[in-house]
Amino acid sequence: NKIDLGLIFDNSYAKELEGFYVSCTGAESPNPELVKLNVALAERIGLTNVNSDALAQVFSGSEAPVGSSPLAQVYAGHQFGGFSPQLGDGRALLLGEVLDKEGQRLDIQLKGSGKTPFSRGGDGKAVIGAILREYILSEAMYALDIPTTRALAVVTTGEPILRTQYLPGAVLTRVASSHLRVGTFQYFASRDELDKVKQLADYAIARHYPELKSSKQPYLDFLCAVRDNQAQLVAKWMLVGFIHGVMNTDNMTISGETIDYGPCAFMDNYDANTVFSSIDRDGRYAYSNQPVLAQWNLARLAETLLPLMSEDKKESIELATQAVTGFWDTYHEVWLGGMRSKLGLSSQEEGDLALCEQLLESMAGQDVDFTQLFRQLAEDLGSGCNTSQSYFNDAKAFLIWRELWLARLTRDELSVVGSISVMNTANPVYIPRNFQVEQAIEAAEQRGDYEPFEQLITVLADPYTLQQGAKEYAKSAPESFGRYTTFCGT
Ligand code: AMP
Ligand code: MG
Ligand code: MG
Repeated sequence: NKIDLGLIFDNSYAKELEGFYVSCTGAESPNPELVKLNVALAERIGLTNVNSDALAQVFSGSEAPVGSSPLAQVYAGHQFGGFSPQLGDGRALLLGEVLDKEGQRLDIQLKGSGKTPFSRGGDGKAVIGAILREYILSEAMYALDIPTTRALAVVTTGEPILRTQYLPGAVLTRVASSHLRVGTFQYFASRDELDKVKQLADYAIARHYPELKSSKQPYLDFLCAVRDNQAQLVAKWMLVGFIHGVMNTDNMTISGETIDYGPCAFMDNYDANTVFSSIDRDGRYAYSNQPVLAQWNLARLAETLLPLMSEDKKESIELATQAVTGFWDTYHEVWLGGMRSKLGLSSQEEGDLALCEQLLESMAGQDVDFTQLFRQLAEDLGSGCNTSQSYFNDAKAFLIWRELWLARLTRDELSVVGSISVMNTANPVYIPRNFQVEQAIEAAEQRGDYEPFEQLITVLADPYTLQQGAKEYAKSAPESFGRYTTFCGT
């Protein structure tokens, strides 16, 4: 380890969790080139050496930096409902952990840096398109104030990677609160290694929920804490129209951060059944199914913790069932709170849930852009116009809803100006539009032109503010863009 990035590593996973990983190294890249560094994030984690050759070597996986202890984590997972007892980082490499300026422990992980013992048939590599997608989407989520892993750097490797055609190889460096997942617990639980499950739970509590250490029921409370963070996370996804696409248990974090930006995408026109991923044929992870599947995943986590909750099996099952059922309380609270803000309401009324649901029903099948409509509602409040109705093919149901909403607003303690301001801080102008994301990727992939990518991430970094000259980024896709499909690992 010769390259010093100035990062001060403190690798608790490597030190404390032997048997939960395999040490390994990244592949040598023929010609690594740094194409993007997230400067603000680099500063936050104490990365002081910004020499681009050094960064390209390290962030391609070719050289391990001073202080790192590179490893691939083992985990299992339910993939589309079927259990795979042995997964693990097949194309990811954890370099180690650093503490940021606030003392928060963060994983630094490479994605696409070559084979590991868990690669199975895969090559362990990634292509530039998938890497830029994760960069754009994860940083957009961060700017939307949604818990997420972050993107630190993009390096092209100089190696063409064969997918359906040869594409430029690339590596993403991502930063996360941790990469502990439901699947990490499942790996050891399914092998009946109860001591390991306990060790992992204790580690997760210390790292993410230290306030629970002294609790009387630490493992039950841990389950509830993960449940609440996940319920909150998925509610936030729903409020901006984010569709993760592959909510397998190995892609669900213990920290409550969004992870694994594979086939995810933002909904264009509102449709509860929206699915983008080519492999999600039954719509398991469709937009409106996301909370249901998050709860399903939490039940899988709960199962792994049962023996730790009580010696009495019946009692543990009762406790765990109650905990998992409680998902809906948190979910609905966060979702309804978010919807109230989206509609400019600050007080709470009995009928609010029905009001929100009625709006969504009025949007169904109407080709209404989910993001634009909420901004338009605010704009109409200011102007006294009703441009919103022109978003609907048939506005009949919407017009009925609108009267109820306007009446509800008059009963709210906020003034019209106050409501507009609440709405404009809750409703983004800019989301990563699929056609914009594809254009940015295509320019980089075909022409090595990173300008569209740079412009897009700049706009998305401030999603709630109307920006000069950024009109294109708020538009819906042109008709010619057609139906959008995403693919895993391309
Ligand atoms: P994901 O769809 O990214 O959650 O990946 C599911 C599993 O497949 C994980 O264990 C990955 O590490 C593994 N995997 C995905 N792509 C590759 C690849 N190109 N090479 C090796 N393993 C992979
Ligand atoms: Mg994954
Ligand atoms: Mg329309």
